[in-house]
Amino acid sequence: MTRYVYDFIEGGRGMADLLGGKGANLAEMTRLGLPVPPGFTVSTDACRAYLVDRQVPEGLFDEVNAHLREVEVRLGRRLGDPAEPLLLAVRSGGRYSMPGMMETILDIGLNDATVTGLARISGDERFAWDSYRRLIQMFGRTVHGVPAEEFDRELDALRATAGPDGPTAEQLRGLVETYKKVFADRVGHDFPQAPHEQLYLAIRAVFESWNASRAVLYRRREHIPDDLGTAVNVMAMVFGNLGPDSGTGVAFTRDPATGAPGVYGDYLSDAQGEDVVAGVRNTVGLDELSRLDPASYRRLTGIMTTLERHYRDLCDVEFTIERGRLWMLQTRVGKRTPAAAFVIAAQLADEGLISWDEALTRVSGAQLAQLMFPTFDPEATPEPLATGVGASPGAAAGRVVFDNAAATAADGPVILVRRETNPDDLPGMIAAAGILTARGGKTSHAAVVARGMGRTCVCGAEALEIDPERGEFRVGDRTVRAGDLISIDGSSGRIYLGEVPVRPSPVTRYLAGDLAPQSDRLVSAVDRLLRHADSVRQLGVRANADTPDDASRARTLGADGVGLCRTEHMFLGARRALVERLILADGLNEVHAALAELLPLQREDFVAILAAMDGQPVTIRLLDPPLHEFLPPLPELAARVARAEALGQDPGRDAVLLAAVRRMQESNPMLGLRGVRLGLVVPGLFAMQVRAVAEAAARRVAEGGDPRPEIMVPLVVDVHELAAVRAEVADVLATVPGAPPIPVGTMVETPRAALTAGAIAGEAEFFSLGTNDLTQTTWAFSRDDGEGSFLGDYLERGIVETSPFETVDVAGVGRLVRLAVAEGRAARPGLTVGVCGEHGGDPESVEFFADAGLDYVSCSPYRVPIARLAAGRAAV
Ligand code: ADP
Ligand code: MG
Ligand code: MG
Repeated sequence: MTRYVYDFIEGGRGMADLLGGKGANLAEMTRLGLPVPPGFTVSTDACRAYLVDRQVPEGLFDEVNAHLREVEVRLGRRLGDPAEPLLLAVRSGGRYSMPGMMETILDIGLNDATVTGLARISGDERFAWDSYRRLIQMFGRTVHGVPAEEFDRELDALRATAGPDGPTAEQLRGLVETYKKVFADRVGHDFPQAPHEQLYLAIRAVFESWNASRAVLYRRREHIPDDLGTAVNVMAMVFGNLGPDSGTGVAFTRDPATGAPGVYGDYLSDAQGEDVVAGVRNTVGLDELSRLDPASYRRLTGIMTTLERHYRDLCDVEFTIERGRLWMLQTRVGKRTPAAAFVIAAQLADEGLISWDEALTRVSGAQLAQLMFPTFDPEATPEPLATGVGASPGAAAGRVVFDNAAATAADGPVILVRRETNPDDLPGMIAAAGILTARGGKTSHAAVVARGMGRTCVCGAEALEIDPERGEFRVGDRTVRAGDLISIDGSSGRIYLGEVPVRPSPVTRYLAGDLAPQSDRLVSAVDRLLRHADSVRQLGVRANADTPDDASRARTLGADGVGLCRTEHMFLGARRALVERLILADGLNEVHAALAELLPLQREDFVAILAAMDGQPVTIRLLDPPLHEFLPPLPELAARVARAEALGQDPGRDAVLLAAVRRMQESNPMLGLRGVRLGLVVPGLFAMQVRAVAEAAARRVAEGGDPRPEIMVPLVVDVHELAAVRAEVADVLATVPGAPPIPVGTMVETPRAALTAGAIAGEAEFFSLGTNDLTQTTWAFSRDDGEGSFLGDYLERGIVETSPFETVDVAGVGRLVRLAVAEGRAARPGLTVGVCGEHGGDPESVEFFADAGLDYVSCSPYRVPIARLAAGRAAV
């Protein structure tokens, strides 16, 4: 029979698949001898089994009872014992942390009888009744979906009439009676008095919470599979709400926003559980705890040091102090901002806790990309309207909205403004450019979720009086209304009226060579990690650059060459007229005349690019797009001609152009006359381009440079196409004296090219995988219509998980890539294979390309540092 339940002393951190992250880490802390209340974990297997038909697997509750008895023996208290009742926390916790997305029910085991026992053993009657009303509310909400407001309304009413010390025990007892009525009215039966029944229903409710809509939404965003299920942790309750010598808190071993060393956290005295994360009361810092309860503070920081050394990473913890006694309720390797990720990785390597190779695996290209986002220009920032806690960095400007509906309906960027957030606000948080709250610290729900999503967040801006009903917030005598523009700075916590201008981030300025590597902790961490990536990576990183400016920018950003220089833009602007002449040419002589005029222009382009990338390869792609793209669009021409004719004028040249466009029109231009086909059909076109490259290279040699051009033929599907072009190219090259050897290769961007890569390699001196077209032609999806088309719908419905145009489709396109590499190299040992196309700058794809044995990726200049980092990660 399958076993479903594991005591904390049986598990460990390696068992997160089975026990969930929370359960595995509770077990790990138990093993380390840290003070964890005793308990056990119901495995994710049990949840998966439950979710099949929503039936609790057979024998599960028997196992639960057996483990419960062990806990009872250890503590000398029993669930449901009216004299000395044991109370339980029933907590969700899947493989991957989903903060606040699933359910937790506290104080299980209270009923009309045990509440008196609890009052006696705690010596605090108010506490006992307050715990009971908390249970009815939490149970009502999680097990039966009774809205929290139904209970809160009664609580607020009571608070309004209570004295300055809050409600008395007698009043709380009355509140419990009211809560029971609310429960019975809403649910249709009485609140269950049997503690074991409470426990079983709570376990079921946690299983069910795996499929709560906010949990599903969160998983989709974070790419967490839907079929993992959650574990359920059942453990003894400890109480942070037993007076001033009790309390509860959340802490990090380093600052999760900046990575600065030193423990960091929020503490709330005389409070229970979720009060901190929900941000319902303002917390104090941990330094305050060091004054309130120095012994517990020392114990806590000692444990945090132990945890950080043990996990060799930033950890966060949840803890509770019950009458001066510290209990650990949770730990995990903590979420952090991209900046903190870099700083902490470098620090841990400096401290010798991890190697630099490992440090590289602790950061990602995606995080580096975030650090390259612009920030507010400090010169241009006005007086802040207010200042809160900078909880998740970034600069965000947008229109104020107060709820999910407005956030998701808005056209432009919005800032979601809330007193505090809770898991129901997730859709609004996803839709918003930034999140601003009036309450809560760096560990509040808003802060934790925003950091996880990379959203800018300022929280705890207490000066804000938020009035969602009236659609406004006030700061002193100023009023900001829904729809007004504000800007928030997630690093400094400053809030500004209006839209504040932005400027390049420090990391971007460093990458561009405008800021010294030592200028601050973050820049220095990025510098050292990138240099380590360069020292270990096998994969070259080139840039896609069509202009000398792009080429030199790419060089500054660390590119090892140009992997794709498109020549089509060299036919635009003033040169359009020449292209038109080429297209309209009547006979070979006119064709040659037009080409002869284009030749010197192209040559000058190439000279400049080769100079900017001197000493490094520059892969130049011969003309690729259909020629009619250089002519005005058909509807425009037709309208012009019709207008002229209507006015009785001679449409002249327009009529000729219109006829040409009509003649050249294709139903599927992307599958039509383009790429190598164009070169074979338009006589002299490729020869002109090749001559321009060769002459440019010869010129650079004469000037003392080291030009390394390569010629690349697009859209080849058959080796004979390439053979024909190569013969023509060889003829041209033979006539240009002084040029260095120029390799001729091909793009592999159609399935057929990949499938016949062996034959094609016979004619190609290198391959460049054009994964944009290869993805289009393999999937038969149009990239240009993008996510606006059905692809958006597919993503929404989870039919495809990520856009294949963003991250390379390993299962399909990836197989063609591997095939092309293997068969190409079998036919021509040592064949250089690179990738050009958007995937070259996508960190996940870069790791695949490294694994597939490619020689280089080529991406846009700004993505070069990201690809360098990803290539480094792939090598360690
Ligand atoms: P989440 O995954 O949403 O953080 P948790 O399972 O951690 O949910 O529970 C939420 C809160 O409940 C915790 O922050 C903690 O303060 C409180 N809590 C959990 N277990 C216990 C316990 N054994 N005793 C007292 N409070 C608890
Ligand atoms: Mg928690
Ligand atoms: Mg292409």
